[in-house]
Amino acid sequence: MPINWFPGHMNSTRQAIKDRVKAGLDVVIELLDARLPGSSSNPLLAALTTGRPALKVLNKQDLADPAVTADWLAHYNAQPHTRAIPLDAGDKSPARAIVKACRELAPQRGDMHKPLRVLICGIPNVGKSTLINTLVGRKAAKTGDEPGITKIEQKIVLENGFYLFDTPGMLWPRIGIEQSGYHLAASGAIGRNAFDEAEVALELIAVLKRRYPDRLQERYGLAELGAEDAVLEAIGLKRGAKIRGGAVQMHKAAEALLVDYRQGLLGRITLETPAEMAAWRRAAAED
Ligand code: GDP
Repeated sequence: MPINWFPGHMNSTRQAIKDRVKAGLDVVIELLDARLPGSSSNPLLAALTTGRPALKVLNKQDLADPAVTADWLAHYNAQPHTRAIPLDAGDKSPARAIVKACRELAPQRGDMHKPLRVLICGIPNVGKSTLINTLVGRKAAKTGDEPGITKIEQKIVLENGFYLFDTPGMLWPRIGIEQSGYHLAASGAIGRNAFDEAEVALELIAVLKRRYPDRLQERYGLAELGAEDAVLEAIGLKRGAKIRGGAVQMHKAAEALLVDYRQGLLGRITLETPAEMAAWRRAAAED
Protein backbone atom coordinates (compact mmCIF):
# COMPACT_ATOMS: atom_id res chain seq x y z
CA MET A 1 0.00 0.00 0.00
CA PRO A 2 1.61 3.27 -1.10
CA ILE A 3 -0.15 5.34 1.58
CA ASN A 4 1.39 4.71 4.95
CA TRP A 5 -1.04 6.43 7.29
CA PHE A 6 -2.50 5.43 10.61
CA PRO A 7 -4.55 8.21 12.16
CA GLY A 8 -5.13 6.43 15.48
CA HIS A 9 -7.89 7.29 17.97
CA MET A 10 -10.41 5.27 16.00
CA ASN A 11 -11.41 3.16 18.99
CA SER A 12 -12.54 6.15 21.04
CA THR A 13 -14.47 7.47 18.05
CA ARG A 14 -16.11 4.12 17.54
CA GLN A 15 -17.14 4.11 21.20
CA ALA A 16 -18.44 7.69 21.00
CA ILE A 17 -20.65 6.76 18.04
CA LYS A 18 -21.94 3.67 19.84
CA ASP A 19 -22.72 5.84 22.90
CA ARG A 20 -24.64 8.30 20.71
CA VAL A 21 -26.66 5.43 19.16
CA LYS A 22 -27.52 4.22 22.65
CA ALA A 23 -28.45 7.72 23.87
CA GLY A 24 -30.71 8.23 20.85
CA LEU A 25 -29.98 8.83 17.19
CA ASP A 26 -32.42 9.52 14.35
CA VAL A 27 -30.29 10.62 11.38
CA VAL A 28 -26.58 10.30 10.59
CA ILE A 29 -24.98 13.02 8.51
CA GLU A 30 -21.84 11.92 6.74
CA LEU A 31 -19.84 14.80 5.39
CA LEU A 32 -18.08 13.73 2.19
CA ASP A 33 -15.61 15.54 -0.04
CA ALA A 34 -17.50 16.14 -3.29
CA ARG A 35 -14.24 15.64 -5.24
CA LEU A 36 -13.94 12.07 -3.93
CA PRO A 37 -17.22 11.04 -2.29
CA GLY A 38 -16.59 7.30 -2.25
CA SER A 39 -13.01 7.51 -1.02
CA SER A 40 -13.82 10.09 1.66
CA SER A 41 -16.55 7.94 3.18
CA ASN A 42 -16.02 5.81 6.26
CA PRO A 43 -16.69 2.14 5.57
CA LEU A 44 -17.62 1.39 9.21
CA LEU A 45 -20.06 4.21 9.80
CA ALA A 46 -23.17 2.44 8.45
CA ALA A 47 -22.43 -0.60 10.61
CA LEU A 48 -21.83 1.53 13.71
CA THR A 49 -25.06 3.46 13.25
CA THR A 50 -27.05 0.29 12.58
CA GLY A 51 -29.14 1.31 9.63
CA ARG A 52 -30.18 4.79 10.81
CA PRO A 53 -31.33 7.08 7.95
CA ALA A 54 -28.35 8.80 6.35
CA LEU A 55 -27.79 12.26 4.92
CA LYS A 56 -24.74 12.45 2.67
CA VAL A 57 -23.49 16.01 2.47
CA LEU A 58 -21.20 16.48 -0.52
CA ASN A 59 -19.07 19.29 0.83
CA LYS A 60 -16.55 21.43 -1.08
CA GLN A 61 -18.84 21.19 -4.08
CA ASP A 62 -17.30 24.46 -5.28
CA LEU A 63 -14.14 22.46 -6.08
CA ALA A 64 -15.91 19.48 -7.70
CA ASP A 65 -17.13 18.89 -11.25
CA PRO A 66 -20.88 19.76 -11.16
CA ALA A 67 -21.82 17.01 -13.65
CA VAL A 68 -20.13 14.30 -11.57
CA THR A 69 -21.57 15.75 -8.35
CA ALA A 70 -25.01 15.28 -9.96
CA ASP A 71 -24.13 11.61 -10.62
CA TRP A 72 -23.08 11.10 -7.01
CA LEU A 73 -26.23 12.79 -5.67
CA ALA A 74 -28.39 10.52 -7.86
CA HIS A 75 -26.37 7.51 -6.73
CA TYR A 76 -26.98 8.23 -3.03
CA ASN A 77 -30.57 9.38 -3.46
CA ALA A 78 -31.38 6.02 -5.06
CA GLN A 79 -30.33 4.22 -1.87
CA PRO A 80 -32.97 3.39 0.76
CA HIS A 81 -33.30 5.76 3.76
CA THR A 82 -30.67 8.02 2.23
CA ARG A 83 -30.64 11.60 0.97
CA ALA A 84 -27.78 13.59 -0.46
CA ILE A 85 -27.21 17.34 -0.81
CA PRO A 86 -24.30 19.43 -2.12
CA LEU A 87 -22.76 22.15 0.04
CA ASP A 88 -19.76 24.45 0.25
CA ALA A 89 -18.24 26.80 2.76
CA GLY A 90 -19.61 29.79 0.82
CA ASP A 91 -23.19 28.75 1.54
CA LYS A 92 -24.57 31.48 3.81
CA SER A 93 -27.26 29.35 5.46
CA PRO A 94 -26.31 25.69 5.22
CA ALA A 95 -28.67 24.87 8.09
CA ARG A 96 -31.72 25.27 5.88
CA ALA A 97 -30.88 22.42 3.48
CA ILE A 98 -29.56 20.21 6.28
CA VAL A 99 -32.63 20.67 8.49
CA LYS A 100 -35.02 20.08 5.58
CA ALA A 101 -33.32 16.85 4.48
CA CYS A 102 -33.09 15.48 8.04
CA ARG A 103 -36.75 16.25 8.72
CA GLU A 104 -37.70 14.34 5.57
CA LEU A 105 -35.59 11.38 6.70
CA ALA A 106 -37.18 11.25 10.17
CA PRO A 107 -40.63 12.83 9.91
CA GLN A 108 -41.80 11.16 13.14
CA ARG A 109 -39.39 13.27 15.22
CA GLY A 110 -38.60 16.93 15.58
CA ASP A 111 -40.70 18.69 18.19
CA MET A 112 -39.91 19.79 21.74
CA HIS A 113 -41.05 16.45 23.18
CA LYS A 114 -39.38 14.25 20.59
CA PRO A 115 -36.39 16.19 19.34
CA LEU A 116 -34.64 15.10 16.16
CA ARG A 117 -31.21 13.82 17.15
CA VAL A 118 -28.66 14.08 14.38
CA LEU A 119 -25.02 13.02 14.41
CA ILE A 120 -22.51 14.66 12.08
CA CYS A 121 -19.42 12.68 11.06
CA GLY A 122 -16.62 13.06 8.58
CA ILE A 123 -13.02 12.16 7.94
CA PRO A 124 -10.33 14.75 8.73
CA ASN A 125 -10.12 17.78 6.45
CA VAL A 126 -13.54 17.23 4.88
CA GLY A 127 -14.66 20.61 6.25
CA LYS A 128 -16.55 19.63 9.37
CA SER A 129 -15.13 22.38 11.61
CA THR A 130 -15.81 24.99 8.96
CA LEU A 131 -19.42 23.84 8.60
CA ILE A 132 -19.95 23.71 12.35
CA ASN A 133 -18.50 27.21 12.71
CA THR A 134 -21.00 28.45 10.16
CA LEU A 135 -23.87 26.62 11.87
CA VAL A 136 -22.92 27.92 15.29
CA GLY A 137 -22.23 31.36 13.90
CA ARG A 138 -18.91 31.87 15.60
CA LYS A 139 -15.37 30.50 15.59
CA ALA A 140 -16.08 27.51 17.82
CA ALA A 141 -14.14 24.76 16.08
CA LYS A 142 -10.63 24.64 14.73
CA THR A 143 -10.01 24.94 10.98
CA GLY A 144 -6.78 24.61 9.10
CA ASP A 145 -5.11 22.94 6.15
CA GLU A 146 -3.86 19.91 8.06
CA PRO A 147 -6.16 17.16 9.33
CA GLY A 148 -7.39 17.97 12.83
CA ILE A 149 -9.16 16.33 15.75
CA THR A 150 -12.39 17.34 17.46
CA LYS A 151 -12.30 15.98 21.01
CA ILE A 152 -15.59 16.37 22.88
CA GLU A 153 -19.15 15.76 21.74
CA GLN A 154 -20.73 19.08 20.96
CA LYS A 155 -24.49 19.62 20.89
CA ILE A 156 -25.78 22.31 18.60
CA VAL A 157 -29.45 23.30 18.66
CA LEU A 158 -30.11 24.18 15.03
CA GLU A 159 -33.72 25.08 15.75
CA ASN A 160 -36.44 24.05 18.20
CA GLY A 161 -36.51 20.26 18.47
CA PHE A 162 -33.44 19.80 16.26
CA TYR A 163 -30.18 18.71 17.91
CA LEU A 164 -26.97 18.25 16.00
CA PHE A 165 -24.25 16.23 17.74
CA ASP A 166 -20.63 16.38 16.64
CA THR A 167 -18.55 13.21 17.03
CA PRO A 168 -15.37 13.53 18.98
CA GLY A 169 -12.25 11.90 17.59
CA MET A 170 -11.39 10.77 14.13
CA LEU A 171 -12.96 8.64 11.48
CA TRP A 172 -10.88 6.60 9.12
CA PRO A 173 -11.23 7.17 5.43
CA ARG A 174 -11.36 4.28 3.00
CA ILE A 175 -7.67 3.65 2.42
CA GLY A 176 -8.02 -0.09 1.90
CA ILE A 177 -8.55 0.63 -1.79
CA GLU A 178 -5.34 1.73 -3.47
CA GLN A 179 -7.00 4.32 -5.70
CA SER A 180 -8.78 5.84 -2.72
CA GLY A 181 -5.45 6.28 -0.93
CA TYR A 182 -4.16 8.30 -3.87
CA HIS A 183 -7.31 10.40 -4.09
CA LEU A 184 -7.28 11.14 -0.36
CA ALA A 185 -3.62 12.13 -0.53
CA ALA A 186 -4.22 14.35 -3.58
CA SER A 187 -7.16 16.05 -1.86
CA GLY A 188 -5.14 16.92 1.25
CA ALA A 189 -6.98 14.56 3.62
CA ILE A 190 -3.84 12.66 4.61
CA GLY A 191 -0.85 14.12 6.44
CA ARG A 192 1.94 14.87 4.00
CA ASN A 193 4.51 12.63 5.69
CA ALA A 194 2.45 9.56 4.91
CA PHE A 195 2.98 9.41 1.16
CA ASP A 196 5.36 10.11 -1.65
CA GLU A 197 4.23 13.33 -3.32
CA ALA A 198 5.64 12.38 -6.72
CA GLU A 199 3.78 9.07 -6.70
CA VAL A 200 0.50 10.80 -5.79
CA ALA A 201 1.10 13.51 -8.40
CA LEU A 202 1.65 10.86 -11.10
CA GLU A 203 -1.69 9.26 -10.19
CA LEU A 204 -3.38 12.65 -10.26
CA ILE A 205 -1.90 13.30 -13.70
CA ALA A 206 -3.26 9.92 -14.86
CA VAL A 207 -6.79 10.91 -13.74
CA LEU A 208 -6.47 14.39 -15.27
CA LYS A 209 -5.17 13.01 -18.57
CA ARG A 210 -8.09 10.62 -18.76
CA ARG A 211 -10.87 12.99 -17.78
CA TYR A 212 -9.69 16.63 -17.88
CA PRO A 213 -6.69 16.76 -20.28
CA ASP A 214 -7.46 20.31 -21.44
CA ARG A 215 -7.16 21.64 -17.87
CA LEU A 216 -3.62 20.29 -17.57
CA GLN A 217 -2.66 21.68 -20.96
CA GLU A 218 -4.14 25.11 -20.27
CA ARG A 219 -2.76 25.52 -16.77
CA TYR A 220 0.81 24.57 -17.65
CA GLY A 221 0.87 25.61 -21.32
CA LEU A 222 1.53 22.08 -22.57
CA ALA A 223 1.00 21.57 -26.31
CA GLU A 224 0.63 17.84 -25.82
CA LEU A 225 0.46 15.32 -22.99
CA GLY A 226 2.97 12.48 -22.98
CA ALA A 227 3.48 9.81 -20.33
CA GLU A 228 2.70 10.81 -16.73
CA ASP A 229 6.33 11.30 -15.70
CA ALA A 230 6.99 13.40 -18.80
CA VAL A 231 3.99 15.59 -17.89
CA LEU A 232 5.26 15.98 -14.33
CA GLU A 233 8.68 16.94 -15.64
CA ALA A 234 7.12 19.48 -18.01
CA ILE A 235 5.15 20.97 -15.11
CA GLY A 236 8.41 21.21 -13.14
CA LEU A 237 10.09 23.02 -16.03
CA LYS A 238 7.25 25.52 -16.25
CA ARG A 239 7.31 26.09 -12.51
CA GLY A 240 11.06 26.57 -12.22
CA ALA A 241 11.68 23.37 -10.29
CA LYS A 242 15.08 22.91 -11.94
CA ILE A 243 18.35 22.28 -10.20
CA ARG A 244 21.75 23.32 -11.51
CA GLY A 245 22.61 21.24 -14.53
CA GLY A 246 19.01 21.35 -15.78
CA ALA A 247 17.39 18.31 -14.12
CA VAL A 248 13.88 18.81 -12.76
CA GLN A 249 13.23 18.20 -9.07
CA MET A 250 10.26 15.91 -9.34
CA HIS A 251 9.06 16.34 -5.76
CA LYS A 252 8.93 20.12 -6.25
CA ALA A 253 6.99 19.67 -9.48
CA ALA A 254 4.66 17.28 -7.64
CA GLU A 255 4.11 19.74 -4.82
CA ALA A 256 3.29 22.53 -7.28
CA LEU A 257 0.69 20.35 -9.01
CA LEU A 258 -0.87 19.15 -5.74
CA VAL A 259 -1.11 22.69 -4.34
CA ASP A 260 -2.72 23.90 -7.57
CA TYR A 261 -5.20 21.04 -7.48
CA ARG A 262 -6.15 21.54 -3.84
CA GLN A 263 -6.68 25.26 -4.37
CA GLY A 264 -8.94 24.62 -7.35
CA LEU A 265 -6.54 26.30 -9.80
CA LEU A 266 -7.06 23.49 -12.32
CA GLY A 267 -10.79 24.11 -12.27
CA ARG A 268 -13.56 22.02 -10.75
CA ILE A 269 -12.36 18.44 -10.85
CA THR A 270 -13.81 15.26 -9.38
CA LEU A 271 -11.43 12.33 -9.05
CA GLU A 272 -13.89 9.43 -9.15
CA THR A 273 -17.35 8.44 -10.38
CA PRO A 274 -19.86 6.15 -8.65
CA ALA A 275 -19.24 3.47 -11.30
CA GLU A 276 -15.46 3.57 -10.82
CA MET A 277 -15.81 3.39 -7.06
CA ALA A 278 -18.13 0.40 -7.31
CA ALA A 279 -15.62 -1.39 -9.55
CA TRP A 280 -12.73 -0.72 -7.12
CA ARG A 281 -14.80 -1.97 -4.22
CA ARG A 282 -15.67 -5.14 -6.09
CA ALA A 283 -12.02 -5.71 -7.02
CA ALA A 284 -10.90 -5.10 -3.41
CA ALA A 285 -13.50 -7.53 -2.10
CA GLU A 286 -12.17 -10.18 -4.48
CA ASP A 287 -8.56 -9.77 -3.28
P1 GDP B 1 -12.19 19.27 9.35
O1 GDP B 1 -10.86 18.61 9.61
O2 GDP B 1 -13.18 18.34 8.73
O3 GDP B 1 -12.76 19.98 10.52
O4 GDP B 1 -11.92 20.34 8.18
P2 GDP B 1 -11.80 21.94 8.25
O5 GDP B 1 -13.13 22.55 8.54
O6 GDP B 1 -10.64 22.30 9.11
O7 GDP B 1 -11.49 22.27 6.72
C1 GDP B 1 -10.32 21.80 6.07
C2 GDP B 1 -9.94 22.76 4.95
O8 GDP B 1 -10.95 22.75 3.94
C3 GDP B 1 -9.82 24.21 5.41
O9 GDP B 1 -8.71 24.79 4.73
C4 GDP B 1 -11.13 24.84 4.96
O10 GDP B 1 -11.01 26.21 4.70
C5 GDP B 1 -11.41 24.07 3.68
N1 GDP B 1 -12.86 23.98 3.37
C6 GDP B 1 -13.85 23.59 4.20
N2 GDP B 1 -15.04 23.60 3.58
C7 GDP B 1 -14.79 23.99 2.31
C8 GDP B 1 -15.63 24.18 1.14
O11 GDP B 1 -16.83 23.94 1.12
N3 GDP B 1 -14.98 24.58 -0.01
C9 GDP B 1 -13.64 24.81 -0.05
N4 GDP B 1 -13.11 25.20 -1.22
N5 GDP B 1 -12.84 24.64 1.02
C10 GDP B 1 -13.41 24.24 2.17
